[in-house]
Amino acid sequence: MKWIVIIFSLLMLCANEGDTHCSRPLSRIVRNQLKEHFHSVFLSKNQEPHSKCPLHSSNDLYSIQEEHKSQEYASKWVCNFCGKAFYNENYLDKHFDNKHSDMLVKGSSVCLADFCDIFRCQLFENRRSDHFWEKKLCNEDRLRVLRRRCEALIRSCLPQSNLSVEGELEIFEAIGANTCSLLNCKDFWKQTNEMMPTWKIVLFAVVTPFFFIALIMYYYALADYYYGEFAVDSRTSDDEEHWSSSAWDSGGNELRRRYGDRPLTY
Ligand SMILES: [Zn+2]
Repeated sequence: MKWIVIIFSLLMLCANEGDTHCSRPLSRIVRNQLKEHFHSVFLSKNQEPHSKCPLHSSNDLYSIQEEHKSQEYASKWVCNFCGKAFYNENYLDKHFDNKHSDMLVKGSSVCLADFCDIFRCQLFENRRSDHFWEKKLCNEDRLRVLRRRCEALIRSCLPQSNLSVEGELEIFEAIGANTCSLLNCKDFWKQTNEMMPTWKIVLFAVVTPFFFIALIMYYYALADYYYGEFAVDSRTSDDEEHWSSSAWDSGGNELRRRYGDRPLTY
């Protein structure tokens, strides 16, 4: 019975996803890209995108709802309109659709998912590393047209203020370096570090030092096990002389005698 309910819920989720006129998951990918490579550039120059720029955050159809989302920890997403909490972001999105559908940006027709071709959503959606056939079937002419569209889009977003030509060019080139410039068959499938999920980066950063410490301790314990008796060795100087001349010359026969025929594996 439990399984039937789960399957039914998933089917309902899929059916409702199809009804959405503007895909939330794809919009989210574009929004994240904009945050990383678009808004950050304007912020660093202390500038604002042109108010009529389609990529301006105030024009994003879902921007009000996105501002009322908070993630307290990995499996707790909270709606800041009413305080309800959800296990994942998709359920919170469904809640927005069902309970707060009036909280869309009024009069906006900007669906960020419509810019997916420029912001390479397919690469972020599908984190495969090869993309063999996509690369083979890549159409350079199509990407050239897309690159022109991208450049026109970025140009339409340059600030309204009295920024110098050099200042505008700097913003244009800084944004273009991570967006429009990648729209060619050589760079389109290039994987970047930011495509790695945050939890993987954190896990990697935490586990790596422990791994090296464990490795050092392992070799230290091995060295101590096989050679640690030198300091308390009570052999006479003659024995010592015999050992030092024979142990190394005979290729470790002395060590083998001390520890039997156990192989020195490490
Ligand atoms: Zn709510």
